[in-house]
Amino acid sequence: MNIAQQGGEIRIVLVGTQHPGNIGAAARAIKTMGLERLVLVAPERYPHGDAIAMAAGADDVLDAARIVGSLAEAVADCALVLGCTARSRRIALEELAPRAAAARLHGAAASGARVALVFGRERTGLDNDELQLCHAAVHIPANPDYSSLNLAAAVQVLSYELRMAALADGGHAVALAPQEEQREPPASHAELEGFFAQLGDTLDAIDFHKGRAPESALRKLRRIFLRCALDTREVRLLRGVLADAQRMARLASPPGPGE
Ligand code: SAH
Repeated sequence: MNIAQQGGEIRIVLVGTQHPGNIGAAARAIKTMGLERLVLVAPERYPHGDAIAMAAGADDVLDAARIVGSLAEAVADCALVLGCTARSRRIALEELAPRAAAARLHGAAASGARVALVFGRERTGLDNDELQLCHAAVHIPANPDYSSLNLAAAVQVLSYELRMAALADGGHAVALAPQEEQREPPASHAELEGFFAQLGDTLDAIDFHKGRAPESALRKLRRIFLRCALDTREVRLLRGVLADAQRMARLASPPGPGE
């Protein structure tokens, strides 16, 4: 049974993979669990014979894999983006265990959204800018003294949890979408990033930071808004509020020379 969603989509994104064999092994891992969408962000060596060898019959997943230049491009149309990290680090992101992550991804995909689960490089994982693009982090609670799984093994664990979430839902991810589903579509990644950019500009305009570095406040605000799972209409409303705040700030500021 395939758990790929009709309407919604669960996308597995591998960022900067160094060993092509891991790409093949990841393709195999996701196919065994009924998933099929693989996106490769700037793989180091690909296409490659090792990928085909390790895919062991999941070459259809490899053949259909999309290759893009950046993580932002890979997730631009996604309503939910979760990033897997081998280290539980102090990042300003909510951290989920695999089961909770799978439930959230499955739930969003079942209501028609495109969602992404992102995996980092073998040597260095995801960098901080890439984690900032994620709505929450996922950590497999492994041995704290040796917590880094092989990339394809981590893909397997999460794909398994996604399958369990789908099976628990009768396997009909889309058919079982809740009936109150006359909701607006969830905001896309690009819409949220547009909102965050305007939020940053507005905080400057109202002199919110008062000389402090803006990054920390912006990170915390991102975290609050990402937790809310905003839909498209809600983002429009918030941007309307910001636009008025920006207009009032302009009115309140003394005219510059020559005005
Ligand atoms: N040395 C890297 C490890 C990368 S392992 C680091 O410390 O970040 C390659 C990828 O597999 C990681 O980026 C992550 O996406 C996934 N991964 C490995 N172990 C994981 C774990 N315990 N929990 C969640 N993801 C894990």
